[in-house]
Amino acid sequence: MRFLRLLPLIAVSALAADYAAEGQLWWSHVQFLADDQLEGRNLGTPGFLKAVQYVETQFEKLGLKPAGTSGYLQPVKFESRLITESSLELLRDGAPETLTAGQDATLSSRGDPAPLVEAPMVFVGYGMQIPEANYDDLAGLNLKGKIAVYINAPAPVDAPGNVKSHFSSSAERWAVFKRAGAIGAATLPNPRPNAPTPPAAGAETGGQGHGGRGAPQPSVVLADRALQDTAGQLVSVMITRRGAEKFLAGSGHTFEELEALARENKPLPRFPLVGTLRAKATIQKGSLEAPNIAGIYPGADSALKNEYVIISAHLDHLGVGRPVNGDSIYNGAMDDASGIASMLEIARLLKESGAKPKRSILFVAVTGEEKGELGSRYFSVHPTVPAANIVADINLDMFLPLYPLKVIEVQGLTESSLGDQVRTAAKSLGIDVQTDREPEQNRFIRSDQYSFIRNGVPSLAFKFGYEFGSPEEKIRRDWVRDRYHKPSDDLSQPVDPAAAALFDHVIQTLVKRVADEPARPRWNDDSFFKRFTK
Ligand SMILES: [Zn+2]
Repeated sequence: MRFLRLLPLIAVSALAADYAAEGQLWWSHVQFLADDQLEGRNLGTPGFLKAVQYVETQFEKLGLKPAGTSGYLQPVKFESRLITESSLELLRDGAPETLTAGQDATLSSRGDPAPLVEAPMVFVGYGMQIPEANYDDLAGLNLKGKIAVYINAPAPVDAPGNVKSHFSSSAERWAVFKRAGAIGAATLPNPRPNAPTPPAAGAETGGQGHGGRGAPQPSVVLADRALQDTAGQLVSVMITRRGAEKFLAGSGHTFEELEALARENKPLPRFPLVGTLRAKATIQKGSLEAPNIAGIYPGADSALKNEYVIISAHLDHLGVGRPVNGDSIYNGAMDDASGIASMLEIARLLKESGAKPKRSILFVAVTGEEKGELGSRYFSVHPTVPAANIVADINLDMFLPLYPLKVIEVQGLTESSLGDQVRTAAKSLGIDVQTDREPEQNRFIRSDQYSFIRNGVPSLAFKFGYEFGSPEEKIRRDWVRDRYHKPSDDLSQPVDPAAAALFDHVIQTLVKRVADEPARPRWNDDSFFKRFTK
């Protein structure tokens, strides 16, 4: 027993890694990327370009093979839409009732906003269609030319959390509404106590930036129309609690009633709303460009080197915005300078140890995550290596090394054979793994791995884990409350660089295992996401 208990410790010391020293190397990358001079690395800004140059230089220093379309870079074109002036009115019996922006409802620049839309509305419950669960909020409703109004919470169906997350993404919901002929969508607030932390990341906000509070932020979409998830969504409205009563007036239902049902995870009624909604907007369109950065650590096996294990992390963050306590720079130290830093450290560990993985390892620093996982979406559809040869995506985004590493929380742990690989890799370094502690936060679809999943590639993402009721849980919850998508996610916060270095070793071990395994990773037979396999 004693011998067995000591075994993991021996294994760790045999590696003779100096986590404190390596942690400082990791931190030095974070320090550069999250410095005020980079101004929050917003897409297309000079600060973002400084970050691009930094990663390019590091890739070169690390001897990675350029894998962009122009050296390490893969330029990506975007379109921005900003609503500079807007008005919303409810029309009943020809009489307009003006809605106060922010107080009642906000017209969002997400989707494909049109200057003038006037359309009837239908309340569609949770706005979800899950054929596998025989669930359909749209059954029997006519949505042609109408606006679908829904409560932004997952439907009460007996389905795995990741499946519900998938169907509750704004892209999936819009796909369902669009098929039914709708021209717009409007959300009522999610009344559940564990609703995704506002402001939610990536696809959940579709680029509202800074939570849609303060000055309006432009929404950003890929210029490639085929990759615009919300094409055809001519109007997008976020209704407040107060506004909800106005929208529901005369329908025979109150928001209190709907809210109570949604809070208890019960089915919702579906019904037409009275009158029409008139939305007017002045839209300022622009275009911008910001690259993905890709470099290859070549594999050593003559056949398998043509297959690729991707390590991804996003380089962009929110830029400069509404000041909080006098600070307007959203530095994004953990989100996601930390992931880029780990990517660079893993490349260094491979190089310095002279690792000879069989498959190639493709490092991709992606752009536009904060605007809705756009850079990874573009790369996954237009990869710079043959798409069929991408075997896995290991995504590093805001893994939160805020305390010593004992357990890693893995998103996607039970979906593919990568689950066993990460268990084994972590165990070899004395680390446990656990599944997502808060599936209602939809983390499996809230970062770049989801872009690869949608293309059938088995993927994983990570957070430092914790036990319920532990001090670590409090540290993490406080971090999300106090620093997530705030200027205080900066260099002055307490982090544990040595723990980050240990995490990098776990990921390096995982990646080498996946690269060396004779068979490529595959989705589990019972995984919902298996269907996307190409
Ligand atoms: Zn973020």
